[in-house]
Amino acid sequence: MRILILILLFSASSISGASTFETHFEDATLRIDYYHYGDGETEFISFDRAFRQGPWAGPRQGLSDPFPYGRSMVRVFDPDSGKELFSKGFDSYFGEYRTTTPAHQGQSRTYSESVLVPFPKHPILVTIEIRDSEPASLARWTFDPEDIGIASEEPAAAIVVNHHVPAPPQTCLDIAFLGEGYTSHEFGVFKKDLERFADLMLDHEPYHSMKDSICIRGVMAPSSDAGCDEPTRGHWKRTAMGASFNALGSERYLLTEDNRALRDIAANVPYDTLIVMVNHERYGGGGIYNLFCTFTAHNRWSPYLVLHEFGHSFAGLADEYYTSSVAYEDLHPPDSEPIAPNVTALLDSVGLKWRDLVDDTTPLPTPWLKKEYDLLDRAYQAEREKRNQAIAEASRGGHGAEAAQMEADAERLAADHGKRMKAFLATDPMAGKVGAFEGAGYAANGLYRPTLDCLMFSRGIQPFCPVCRRAVAEMVGRYAGKLGR
Ligand SMILES: [Zn+2]
Repeated sequence: MRILILILLFSASSISGASTFETHFEDATLRIDYYHYGDGETEFISFDRAFRQGPWAGPRQGLSDPFPYGRSMVRVFDPDSGKELFSKGFDSYFGEYRTTTPAHQGQSRTYSESVLVPFPKHPILVTIEIRDSEPASLARWTFDPEDIGIASEEPAAAIVVNHHVPAPPQTCLDIAFLGEGYTSHEFGVFKKDLERFADLMLDHEPYHSMKDSICIRGVMAPSSDAGCDEPTRGHWKRTAMGASFNALGSERYLLTEDNRALRDIAANVPYDTLIVMVNHERYGGGGIYNLFCTFTAHNRWSPYLVLHEFGHSFAGLADEYYTSSVAYEDLHPPDSEPIAPNVTALLDSVGLKWRDLVDDTTPLPTPWLKKEYDLLDRAYQAEREKRNQAIAEASRGGHGAEAAQMEADAERLAADHGKRMKAFLATDPMAGKVGAFEGAGYAANGLYRPTLDCLMFSRGIQPFCPVCRRAVAEMVGRYAGKLGR
């Protein structure tokens, strides 16, 4: 009888995986900071510092990452048995830098990065692996929980707002909105922005149906200056996390390189995923998978920006558009299937990853009015590029008022163009169908998206396509303790 009970207990715990967490980890977070450096050809990782932080927000079951997303992966092993105890895929700022022209020309850069793993009860082995590099493992570190070198300091001074906390961290996706470029007098502005964008997100599907499994907290560390850096306009601001436009040379790409400041501020709350909300009115944002996303809070497109960029950083969604200029080169190697759930090279239409969502009557690839669309959109993109340069020149030349007027005109043009393109797409006989539409992931040819339009394809508050919606729901489920796949 006793043997039978033991067997039953053993099988229950190995199925749920719950015992792995309790055996090996405590309810705290080990944050490992390191430097990731190199150029287009070489890359290295070097340890910086480790911290003990607050409660572990991530999943406690199925501790190995079930998703294939992210170029990098942190893995935790039991050094005695060699068994993997935890893993999580992610992308990094360095991972994007290495695909740019300066990196290909051999200019080396260093970025600070962090990984968060559950705090161990016993010594663990931690590796950082790069999926497409040889050797794959760039770092191997042993951590002993008794090590006096693991810092246990208070997080950076900040104000915390518990906006929507329906359940404890271990059964929720924990989202932290970090306020950037808000001065100490602007807490009211931060709070209003947080409420606006958090509620917007909780009203959007699939978040809306899963809102009982989603926690949203806000953290604001006051900045000395309001706003953020705008290098092409000659504006430099001292802010809490050093966010800047023109990341990797791209006009509207908004990122922060000050990882340590960002992590010290975020440490005030348990979090699975970070959103940097920037107190600025210019159009800008960015999203890197399992790192963070950014968006400007006071632009007419801000609601779209936060939902779209969070799709990248949280669910590993790719951009479905293909006509704007971007900073990367050789983003997608030919004849290979992209990892992202919402873009395909359609090398095998039978094995299409969203085949179950396609009607039998819909042809693959799916015909659409691409030639006409391209003509309309490319003309606009050329005009936009010209205007951006003129605005930057006026701003650098000290003609601030003139630049602001030109910016407002450009925004109006963008809004009109968006409406025209939406109306055009709605006339396509395949509107609303799931198929494989050529033009996606910055490639006009050879890559395909699931529907004509989607939150990941064109600007505006609109639904995710069914493929993106499913991918986001699976990811929320993962953090909420329901595996989702
Ligand atoms: Zn989509």
